[in-house]
Amino acid sequence: MDLDDTLIPDRSAAWAAVEATLHSLGVARASERVQSVFDIARSCWRAGPYFESLKGLGISSWEALWADLTLASVPEAGGWGLRYRLEVWGDVLRTAGAVAEADREDAARQFVRHRQELVRCLPGAAEFVERMARDHEVWLMTNGASRLQRLKLSLSGLDQYVARVFVSSEVGHAKPHPRFFEAVSDALLDDQAVCLVVGDSLDGDVRPALDRGWPAVHLPCTRVSLIGDVVPPCSHRADAS
Ligand SMILES: [Mg+2]
Repeated sequence: MDLDDTLIPDRSAAWAAVEATLHSLGVARASERVQSVFDIARSCWRAGPYFESLKGLGISSWEALWADLTLASVPEAGGWGLRYRLEVWGDVLRTAGAVAEADREDAARQFVRHRQELVRCLPGAAEFVERMARDHEVWLMTNGASRLQRLKLSLSGLDQYVARVFVSSEVGHAKPHPRFFEAVSDALLDDQAVCLVVGDSLDGDVRPALDRGWPAVHLPCTRVSLIGDVVPPCSHRADAS
């Protein structure tokens, strides 16, 4: 199973958390400024010293706004990640007309709080995973920072059903890199086989599974709009960096 935007909302939750943060900071026309926060984050992310390494590990600019980037393979990323958050929110507030040093720290903290509060399962996801776990081992295959993905799993309550977790930053390669899927294959015991892969990404989840002869189901991201009462629809087009 994939995690982000398959079992729990990711992009739409990030969008909603940014909007809530801007609102709570008293930024005027908060809903109109959300895309600019993603744009600033992407720009700072790409200019950062670890962009290529972190991209290869499947970590995105908006996730890094609340991720603990403590990573064995990029030891300096943890400290840099905290500075990155402040840089992004500093730029956001400067653009909005506020420049106080304390503001950006408050903004960075508030975003983390809002984002954590928005970790929840998509409708039917917990029931599906619970049912699957009765007769099967549920393995999670997810891109992102190790601590963040495991935090999401725990906050969503899905961890109780998941027997094994593959996080790209731990594997060393992100989906759809073949080495990620090799790590999953290598972990299968002789009497185990993959009976179903479920994911929202055709390139990251479905095609690599089918290439290995694993049955797969595609859950397109548009279904995130079904949780309009939980978080707003996935209306932006933030890319995977
Ligand atoms: Mg996904």
